[in-house]
Amino acid sequence: MNSGHREIIMDKILEKMGDRRLVCPISGPEAKWSIHPKTASVYAVGAPNELPVQSMPSQAYPLAVIICEDCGYTIFVNLIKLGLAAELDISVASDEQ
Ligand SMILES: [Zn+2]
Repeated sequence: MNSGHREIIMDKILEKMGDRRLVCPISGPEAKWSIHPKTASVYAVGAPNELPVQSMPSQAYPLAVIICEDCGYTIFVNLIKLGLAAELDISVASDEQ
């Protein structure tokens, strides 16, 4: 992810937040946040009663990694749900939307 991508993600998050502020539960309201240069992923592996070892991952969800620069508290934002799949050229399976 380049700095342009990070700017697109931050702009979209700020748009969704409106007048609200992102408050760190550890550092408080004055925390400074940054977006990590790489994304993270979580994988869908099956029904709730299936252990991960019983099924192969079928879907990956790309996540922006947003880190509090004061304490390291980290949040993840699903880039598909954020509405940036097309803008960031993320391929999306039909059942992920
Ligand atoms: Zn913090």
